[in-house]
Amino acid sequence: MAMYVVGHKIPDSDSICGAIALAYLKNQIGEAAIPTRLGEVSPETQFILDRFGFEAPELKLSYAGEEVYIVDHTEKTQAPDDIDEATVVGVVDHHKLGDLTTSTPLECWIRPVGCSNTIIKMMYDFYNVKIPANIAGIMMCAILSDTVIFKSPTCTTADIKCVEALAEIAGVEDFKELGMDMFKVKSAVQGTPARDLVMRDFKDFNMNGNLVGIGQLEVIDLSVFDEIKSELEADIAKLKEEGNRHSVLLLLTDIMKEGSEMLIVSNDESIIEKAYGAKPEAGRVWLDGVLSRKKQVVPPLQDAFA
Ligand code: MG
Ligand code: MG
Ligand code: MG
Repeated sequence: MAMYVVGHKIPDSDSICGAIALAYLKNQIGEAAIPTRLGEVSPETQFILDRFGFEAPELKLSYAGEEVYIVDHTEKTQAPDDIDEATVVGVVDHHKLGDLTTSTPLECWIRPVGCSNTIIKMMYDFYNVKIPANIAGIMMCAILSDTVIFKSPTCTTADIKCVEALAEIAGVEDFKELGMDMFKVKSAVQGTPARDLVMRDFKDFNMNGNLVGIGQLEVIDLSVFDEIKSELEADIAKLKEEGNRHSVLLLLTDIMKEGSEMLIVSNDESIIEKAYGAKPEAGRVWLDGVLSRKKQVVPPLQDAFA
């Protein structure tokens, strides 16, 4: 029986490229594996797949009775809905440990690095499997995306070394330029419905019994949001009601200025000031130096809820 290799809901480039790269590795070591995805591919990920000649993995939402290798998360809110009825055979992740549990022993590759694909590269090295050029290319792009071209505080020496090695294998001379091209694709938000933008990179978290949704849009210049900011705010307010959430936060991240404007709708806005030490005005606050949801946004908020 082949295992399925799948990343999180609302898949990002790490989830999609990681599923492809890990499934390839597993097949090379005699374990049949099929990459899948839990949602639509983002424009950034499509750009990467096109650049290196891949099709998107098959869309598969139900895994009851199947063997699953989980990529880029361990939170039940981000996993397949019926994950409890599947057998989780392994996890590769670089986030805080979530609430996913298993009934059988599993393989765990979890490291505090900038990207799951950095860990998958370590797995290739561990099994001594050669990485094909096109797979090296998508892995490299996933790391450049997750680490915001090495600017994110989540980026480690391992991520940088890994990108350098993968760029060599992929035959990419200027990987930073390719990274900027990726973020240019990400910055093209004009003409996209507000809901699509809010949901493009959106995660729900269970914070001490409160459901908190946090979205993030990483762009080269925040002025792309000038005309649509109020639409985005109206939409996160709707999303909060629809999902019965305590709060919905949307991070508008400026990767050049290296900071984020946070748009907030919350049952208790004081929790934001408690978490980040900055007082929101009219549901907005600028958080200087904040680029990473997982390292700079989630932990202080989790503490504020505790
Ligand atoms: Mg991810
Ligand atoms: Mg990731
Ligand atoms: Mg990200």
